[in-house]
Amino acid sequence: MRILISNDDGIYSPGIVALAKVASRFGQVRIVAPDVEQSSMSHAITSSRPIRYKRVTIDNFEAYRVNGTPADCVALGTHHWGHVDLVLSGINLGPNLGNACWHSGTLAAAKQAALLGIRGIAFSTAVSEGKEPDFAPLQAYVAKVLDLLLEQKTMCLVNVNLPEKPKGIRWTRQAVGQYDGKVVPSKDPMGRPIFWFTVKPLDDEVEGTDRWAFTNNWVSVTPLRLDLTAEKDLTRALSLRHTPALSTKREPIRRTRKKRQQRRLGPE
Ligand code: MN
Repeated sequence: MRILISNDDGIYSPGIVALAKVASRFGQVRIVAPDVEQSSMSHAITSSRPIRYKRVTIDNFEAYRVNGTPADCVALGTHHWGHVDLVLSGINLGPNLGNACWHSGTLAAAKQAALLGIRGIAFSTAVSEGKEPDFAPLQAYVAKVLDLLLEQKTMCLVNVNLPEKPKGIRWTRQAVGQYDGKVVPSKDPMGRPIFWFTVKPLDDEVEGTDRWAFTNNWVSVTPLRLDLTAEKDLTRALSLRHTPALSTKREPIRRTRKKRQQRRLGPE
C-alpha cells in the first residue's frame, strides 16, 4: 500500500515524523509537505504561480518539500508518485474540532485526497503552551485508528483528534453548535490599530460530538462527507409553489383574471 503523508505545520514539524513512523507499519511511505507552516490555509490551491518541490530526507523517509499549500502537496504528491492508496495528514499540533474544520489545512490535505478519489484521514492533537506533545502514546492510538478505518472501506474522509492522554476511541459527529473565531484589536508600536484573528475557547459539551469526545479524553473519529448540500432545505425548496423559471426564455404573458374569467364563461 502506498501511503502519502502531508500536513499543514510544515515538513519539519515533529508531528509528521510521528505519523510517518506509524504509517510505515502499514505500507510504503512518502512525505510531501509544505516548506513552511500553512496552518489555517484551509483548501487553498496555488493557481497564480508554478509550484516546485525539493527532495529532502526526513528521518530516513523519502520526502519532498513544496512551496505550496497542503492541498497543493497532495495534488502534486499523488501526481508524481502515481497510484496512491491512502493519504494521511498531520499529526497537527493543535486540535481541529467542530467548525475549525472549515479553516483547517490539515483536514484540507485529506479532503484533497478524497476529491481525487483517494481515502484521506486527518490527525490532530492537543498542544500545551510551548511543549511538544508526547507522541509515543498517541502513535499507539494512530495505529489503532488506522486498523479500524482501513476496514471501513466506504469512509473516504475522516477527521481524527487525539487528546493528550487518550483513554479510548469514539465515533463522533462534528460539533457545529458554536464558532470559535474572534477578532482581537490591538495597537502596533507606532500606535496604529491592528487586529488578530484568533480563537476563543469553546465549551461545547454536546455528547457524541468531536469536541465532547476530545474534552473527555477520547480519541475522536469523525467520518465526513464532501457533499455540502443542505438536504432538508433543498427538499423544501423543490416543493415550493413559486420555483424560479428554469430557463431564461421569456415567459408567456399571464392572462389577467378578467380574461381567464372570459375564457371560462365563453364569448359574451
Ligand atoms: Mn497546523
